[in-house]
Amino acid sequence: MSQPPAVNELSAVMNVYNRFPITLIRGKGSYVWDEAGKKYLDFTSGIATCSLGHVPDTVQDKLTEQLATLWHCSNLFTIPEQKNLANRLSQHSCCDQVFFCNSGAEANEAAIKLAKKFAKDQGKPERKEIVTFHQSFHGRTGTTMAATAQEKIHQGFEPIAPGFRYLPFNDQNALTQIDNGKTTAVLVELIQGEGGVHPAEQDWILALQEHCQKADILLMVDEIQTGIGRTGTLFAYEQFGIKPDVITLAKGLGSGFPVGAMLAKGRVAASFQPGSHGSTFGGNPLAMTAGGATLDVMLEKEFLHEVTEKSNWLFEALQNLKDNFEGIKDVRGKGFLIGIEVDGNAAELVSAFRDKGIIVLTAGQQVLRILPPLTVSWEEMRAFIHTFNEILAEGEYNKP
Ligand SMILES: *Cc1c(COP(=O)(O)O)cnc(C)c1O
Repeated sequence: MSQPPAVNELSAVMNVYNRFPITLIRGKGSYVWDEAGKKYLDFTSGIATCSLGHVPDTVQDKLTEQLATLWHCSNLFTIPEQKNLANRLSQHSCCDQVFFCNSGAEANEAAIKLAKKFAKDQGKPERKEIVTFHQSFHGRTGTTMAATAQEKIHQGFEPIAPGFRYLPFNDQNALTQIDNGKTTAVLVELIQGEGGVHPAEQDWILALQEHCQKADILLMVDEIQTGIGRTGTLFAYEQFGIKPDVITLAKGLGSGFPVGAMLAKGRVAASFQPGSHGSTFGGNPLAMTAGGATLDVMLEKEFLHEVTEKSNWLFEALQNLKDNFEGIKDVRGKGFLIGIEVDGNAAELVSAFRDKGIIVLTAGQQVLRILPPLTVSWEEMRAFIHTFNEILAEGEYNKP
């Protein structure tokens, strides 16, 4: 008689993630605890999401209050928390209006739709194409996967949605190809996160903006990972001296509560009218409360200033490790979005850290990615550097 397949604990969950061999059940501040009660210093922040640490008190209080008041009423009604968060995001950015959704991919979907409608409204229906860049990451839905210029993400899902053209990132020569008469927008990450933590070069991004402005092509920045304080300013674009037409946000916006947003300048946002776009859950009172409470902390005087100060220290400490260990090839990023390129398999380093009670992640095979909570303490940063030094001194990464 044939036996039924062995019952696997995860068998009812679709197998789309490689998971770490620990199960986290509780978090507070910079720490998480697994089922066995082991405590870990979390230098991933739920992939740049829990930027104020786990279960931050002020967000928890406001969410608890909102939980007892109203969860959902649909966008058939005016939602005061939505107006409030939209006002604050426009006040603190170069954009004027906000569409709310629930994830990063949805925010980019909204941006892509808006760019097409904008071209049509400008009387240029032939401009339907959006330019994205090699090694980018813009999401996993049908359209955002097509926007993502990575072969391995497309594989098996052909036909890939049309309407995207891919150019090399940080390549001055490629900029002349931006305007081919068919382009309505450029969608770009200012620091490619999933693609290996590659910051855009200052000159290149300025030249990109110039090319866009000349041809009235929209400059859309995907700040889903870099936004909401992650790089030391509320938005990363502030540090590049540009003024994008569209900004997409998600990860850090709700401190771990799902919130996505697409911001646009007024003349562009005007292309969305009732019926153009929508989302059942987008901008619900709970999500808006999480977003508002997150901004309350981020916009406190000195908060982001302190993030930059701590980040400078961490970069310096990592640079010292690089000087001492040949196994470290490069340290790059901004604020608390940091990539450390290693000579070897970054996943092995991730395991070594985990064994020593610190959670970190990768961005590609050779890049260790660390995303500490913006509220990380000096002591926690010192503990991280101490452990990193220990791992490098013990391991095969030590090649003096
Ligand atoms: C995470 C991420 C996305 C996708 O966000 P989801 O919420 O997973 O849909 C898109 N762009 C960038 C830059 C990201 O880091």
